[in-house]
Amino acid sequence: MKFDLYRLVRENVRGLKPYSSARDEYTSDGSKMVFIDANESPYSNGINRYPDPQQRKLKTLLAKSSSLSPANILLGNGSDEVLDLIFRAFCEPHKDNVITMTPTYGMYKVLAGINAIENREVLLTESFELDVNRILESVNSKTKVIFLCSPNNPTGNSFSVKHIEYLLNNFQGLLVVDEAYIDFATQGSWLNKLGQFPNLMVTRTFSKAYGMAGLRLGVCYASENIITILNRIKPPYNVNELTQRKAFQMIQNTALVEEQIAEILSERDRMIGQLAKISYVKKIYPTDANFILVKVDDADKRYQEILELGVVVRNRSTQPLCYNTLRFTIGTPEENETLLKVLNSL
Ligand SMILES: *Cc1c(COP(=O)(O)O)cnc(C)c1O
Repeated sequence: MKFDLYRLVRENVRGLKPYSSARDEYTSDGSKMVFIDANESPYSNGINRYPDPQQRKLKTLLAKSSSLSPANILLGNGSDEVLDLIFRAFCEPHKDNVITMTPTYGMYKVLAGINAIENREVLLTESFELDVNRILESVNSKTKVIFLCSPNNPTGNSFSVKHIEYLLNNFQGLLVVDEAYIDFATQGSWLNKLGQFPNLMVTRTFSKAYGMAGLRLGVCYASENIITILNRIKPPYNVNELTQRKAFQMIQNTALVEEQIAEILSERDRMIGQLAKISYVKKIYPTDANFILVKVDDADKRYQEILELGVVVRNRSTQPLCYNTLRFTIGTPEENETLLKVLNSL
């Protein structure tokens, strides 16, 4: 099956020239230059200059750790912006559609609504696996993107590699794998398969394992051709100077983050063992993420009781297939202990 990227791009985006910023036209090679081209304030305070619109330093560092090229990377103000750019580059309002799973991360639906794109929701199976046939039956000539979140939020599981490969091989649009929780998964990343599938896109975020939710940094990895299109429509200065600088600094030393991930994984195991002993916990779903979805006797009641004792958890009961479920994020060992105390006191 031949993949035709050009056919997928919105007509108005095909011919777009990106805004050419002063910082695009000239970047210093390190020699001392006088910059009086961008109407910035000349007085140094660390942030008086516009940030690099192409985030070259940061992308080079990220490319190195993924053995890809900076040309395979788009950065955004959180992965929410990255996902929005995907809609805006490929989906024609009031005409095209996307396919998302349910239950899943709520932002795909929100972004579809904002961009006036039909969202075709396909229910996961009872075991939260992809229903590949139903997904492909939902595809028509206007289907531009399938969004998969793996490991999936709020269910916690990773989708079967075989199923995702089947979709990649049998869908002529783009397939986005949102890997927000990949650092907690036993299953490998789809990054290594970008070369194999021209329609594959992988998104990541620094908001979860990397501990930078406040920084707002999201990443999209894809073929150079796809990234070129996204670059055409991204706001020039979408990743601010402080974010670029802080992320660069933090990504260089990931030893601490790796320790934290290891602790979260061992705490996750411990919590699963402890939760299993609680009488009103009816089911603990397998998880590849930094949270655990559990079925309880009465989620609305338990949620209120837990809240009254000072712990905020997520009630996922209104989601399809998630009736009477609560989602617990793995906290520090002390926080997890507090949750267990609360749960055991009910
Ligand atoms: C938390 C989360 C994100 C993070 O989005 P940011 O905008 O980068 O903070 C993305 N995708 C999923 C599935 C998430 O759960």
